[in-house]
Amino acid sequence: MTRARTAIAWDYAPAPESTDHVRLRDSYGLFIDGDFRDPREGARVPSINPSTEEPIAEVAHAGPADLRRAIDAARAAQPRWASLSGLERGKYLFRIARLIQERARELAVVESMDGGKPVRESRDVDIPLAAAHFFHYAGWADKLSYGVGGREVAPLGVAAQIVPWNFPLLMAAWKLAPALACGNTAVLKPAETTPLSALLLAEICQEAELPAGVVQIVPGDGATGAALVRQEGIDKVAFTGSTSVGKDIQAALAGRGVSLTLELGGKSANIVFEDAALDQAVEGIVNGIFFNQGHVCCAGSRLLIQESVAETVVARLWERMGRLRVGDPLDKNTDVGAINSREQLERIDELVSAGEGEGAVRRTIACDLPERGYWFAPTLFTEVAPAHRIAVEEIFGPVVSVLTFRTQAEAIDKANNSPYGLAAGVWTDKGAKAFEVASALQAGVVWQNTYNHFDPSAAFGGYKESGFGREGGPAGLRPYVRVS
Ligand code: NAD
Repeated sequence: MTRARTAIAWDYAPAPESTDHVRLRDSYGLFIDGDFRDPREGARVPSINPSTEEPIAEVAHAGPADLRRAIDAARAAQPRWASLSGLERGKYLFRIARLIQERARELAVVESMDGGKPVRESRDVDIPLAAAHFFHYAGWADKLSYGVGGREVAPLGVAAQIVPWNFPLLMAAWKLAPALACGNTAVLKPAETTPLSALLLAEICQEAELPAGVVQIVPGDGATGAALVRQEGIDKVAFTGSTSVGKDIQAALAGRGVSLTLELGGKSANIVFEDAALDQAVEGIVNGIFFNQGHVCCAGSRLLIQESVAETVVARLWERMGRLRVGDPLDKNTDVGAINSREQLERIDELVSAGEGEGAVRRTIACDLPERGYWFAPTLFTEVAPAHRIAVEEIFGPVVSVLTFRTQAEAIDKANNSPYGLAAGVWTDKGAKAFEVASALQAGVVWQNTYNHFDPSAAFGGYKESGFGREGGPAGLRPYVRVS
């Protein structure tokens, strides 16, 4: 008797990325005035791998006296840096970009070890985009006035820059590249859970022979960040992080004449119309919310589906979610890695429990999660009401909340019904409809028939409680220059 084979049961073999080539030190000092220095008062704290809970390397945290020293070094270096021709400054930025490319494999592995994101993403997105930002702004350094409508420009001075843990090297590049291109010097504070790639970037600044004092890297926690923005001698603060901390920084700077840009949280709407290519939309939904475990400020965490296709889209999405591979961030087949920290895992757990408590229907994919480390399996909520906490608050994890709508006007109303306004996605076959909806959305970035696409030449930033100021492209020069 012959039996027809209807399905092949198969799985991927493990494809672990090697860590042999990684050159991490056991302990890192603060990068101030061109070298790594012992902290004067701050402690040394281990950076933990969230997928194993093992320490990777020890990192100095900066206290107020260290910050003073860092700002003084940046101040002292600034006039000479600003007096170089744009072409000369650009050469240093080109060098940094090329050195990031040369050390790309190492940087990708370190980013995944320190932050928990799949190496496929750090290798294909974070590190190439970080290099691309330096390339982009290297090109602007000698053309600054063309970037601001032909006006004369002057640098602001010393920029204090604070970045979060979700795209550690990329956010450092978003901050440093335009600041330096414009003739400013910088003091950058990486996030407490992910300082390592910024410290490798400090080594790259040394390799690029960047003049001492142009870039300082001062790791630390919230207290270090709060102390940094309260120091005298800074001319500019650029912050990416949560809305609550953004408000605190805004209050700390009030009346001091320090210029500020804020890139804050989001609860972005991903809108699927009935005329969209639905399979393509499902891929975009997955990319929109499960990329980087949903630790993405512009994640498409509110999925708005037109009622006529809601059942179909949810069924296909659920089927597709079942094929996501959750696990070791260093495995090249992994789609969803580790949650960045225990604290973040607790935040996700709390909001997901609130969703269940408020009556939404939860589905979480079945998968074997490693025993150690911080993990959360991709989760989908249906029967969500607009007032539920999971429809309002940023979860910053792999959790999507589905709402439905009947008409275009209702979709726009629901999408705009948020204190945030960072990004949105519109899925439709009709170009005119996409433009009409995009113009009515209060969101800094609107993607059409795609999601989470980033390019150094495109401006990124928010509306409402998602912040103000733009990063990327010529618009990203404006926050770092005085225009006359
Ligand atoms: P967070 O605001 O707690 O921390 C961000 C950074 O600020 C860290 O370096 C932290 O040490 C520092 N910090 C904390 N308290 C501070 C204080 N009082 N003063 C100065 N600095 C302080 O945010 P998080 O929870 O670590 O990061 C996630 C948040 O960041 C999310 O809300 C997310 O949406 C947002 N984010 C926004 C963007 C964007 O471009 N809009 C990008 C990435 C992340």
